[in-house]
Amino acid sequence: MSEDLDQRAAPLPEAQWHALLEAARGARERAYAPYSHFHVGAALLDEAGRIHAGCNVENAAYPEGVCAEAGALSALVLAGGRRIVAAVVVGAGTEPVTPCGGCRQKLREFGAPSLPVRIADAQGWRGEHTLAALLPSSFGPQNLSTSPLPASQKDSGDAS
Ligand SMILES: [Zn+2]
Repeated sequence: MSEDLDQRAAPLPEAQWHALLEAARGARERAYAPYSHFHVGAALLDEAGRIHAGCNVENAAYPEGVCAEAGALSALVLAGGRRIVAAVVVGAGTEPVTPCGGCRQKLREFGAPSLPVRIADAQGWRGEHTLAALLPSSFGPQNLSTSPLPASQKDSGDAS
């Protein structure tokens, strides 16, 4: 348990943030967004040090489109990952492209409130937030007694 806390306290090396940024940018280039033309890429670092990327995929039936974060999360789970250690989202526009509300909740399933989430665009970093700041007082696996996740995932939700 203390080992786990130490891992959380240690900042991620910039080289790893850069690798996540490159993966998210690469994913963004493959986004399928013929309707909004709003291309987004995301990359997630799992507990084994692997990077999983995703892009947004729109649909002619608009609500059926999926976000980049959801695609990256699916890849993480498919590869056997169960924990998000760091997340990067890359978009474009005058405002930083933070995860939408639904994706904040999706990230919470596999990410602790202390999860660092960095936002970037073509020029570089636009900001860094904890998941707790993006999704305060969150409902997560710790709320359910049947949670399949390790205790380390269940740190209390109000840290910011
Ligand atoms: Zn989303």
